[in-house]
Amino acid sequence: PMTPGELDGGGNVKVVVRVRKFVPRELERRTPCLIHMNPATQQTTLSPPIVSADSHSRKTYEEKKFTFDNSFWSHDEEDAHYAHQEDIYRSFGEEFLEHNFDGYHTCIFAYGQTGSGKSYTMMGTPDQPGLIPRTCRGLFEKIEEEQNGSITYNVHVSYFEIYNEHVKDLLTPKSKDCGYLKIRESKLDGVYVQNLTDEQVKNYEDIERLMMVGDANRTTASTKMNDTSSRSHAVFTLTLKQIQHDLATDTTIERLARMRLVDLAGSERANRTEATGQRLREGGNINQSLTTLGRVIAALADPKRQKPASMRGSQNQTKRRAEVVPYRDSVLTWLLKDSLGGNSKTAMVACISPSDYEETLSTLRYADQAK
Ligand code: ADP
Repeated sequence: PMTPGELDGGGNVKVVVRVRKFVPRELERRTPCLIHMNPATQQTTLSPPIVSADSHSRKTYEEKKFTFDNSFWSHDEEDAHYAHQEDIYRSFGEEFLEHNFDGYHTCIFAYGQTGSGKSYTMMGTPDQPGLIPRTCRGLFEKIEEEQNGSITYNVHVSYFEIYNEHVKDLLTPKSKDCGYLKIRESKLDGVYVQNLTDEQVKNYEDIERLMMVGDANRTTASTKMNDTSSRSHAVFTLTLKQIQHDLATDTTIERLARMRLVDLAGSERANRTEATGQRLREGGNINQSLTTLGRVIAALADPKRQKPASMRGSQNQTKRRAEVVPYRDSVLTWLLKDSLGGNSKTAMVACISPSDYEETLSTLRYADQAK
């Protein structure tokens, strides 16, 4: 249990970690939990696995400690510090929604290896809804609260995935699927996906219907590691337009804010799943876009590094040029450019498995460099 204010020290980027409970496979094998979280300090400790004496592995494992804005213990429901779906939403989802109503963009990313709890955190289940349904409900609740004669609210939803650096609309029925969509850039609209479905919604039930269409359309392919391993980034976007009418002067002011909720592709390294050919190429593209995202978020977390080139002094120019935010290096960051940076808020939830030392260490390191 933490108060929202505790998170406010870190500026516009929040990095949190969440560990899931054992899945049946892990329970059967009686795998040990390698994660410890200290609720007082938010520190997460990764313990070395027990390596059997006859193991041929020469790797040495060490205990590693990391501290993030928040650590969510979703491993053991009996524990008093167990973090429920509601707790995750409360810790920054609500605050982000406030920010949207103030007219700013927000982004929430779930990062981690396949099976670490990304979709559970973002979408959740019908019984245990995650950040996306909670944000949608919160949005309409807030509209209802704030509704008065002089303001009109307009909400649109889009849902697309980035697979192998191509964009696919998740809201078109499979029969009408026209393949990959083009990315365009214009002075007026910035970077956008051409012909992407962007449906106006009047209430939560409208969105629920769209979420079901989208999830049925997600690309999944089997890998040796997990049958439904997700090799694509799924980007769910809510666009809130507020139109304020000033009756006295007969003028209107429009404010537009986007909420991007992103379930990233699995972060496991391609070689771990013995990938070849197509799968290997996917792996390369996934790594490239996750690396770029990490660099972009790290640059945002450090305000010194995100000044536009024109604002910099002429001295030190060569040294500083290398630090320009590398949005264009991947489709994901390029498309999300206007939702990252400026006055927008970004959160990254690093999802970890309780008993996979190497993948968890790699996720914690990634999250640590994004801080
Ligand atoms: P990913 O999207 O990273 O591949 P999933 O969200 O599908 O992973 O999670 C893998 C499995 O673990 C699913 O069966 C999911 O329901 C379960 N799970 C993940 N996180 C939690 C949690 N915090 N509490 C309970 N079950 C969880």
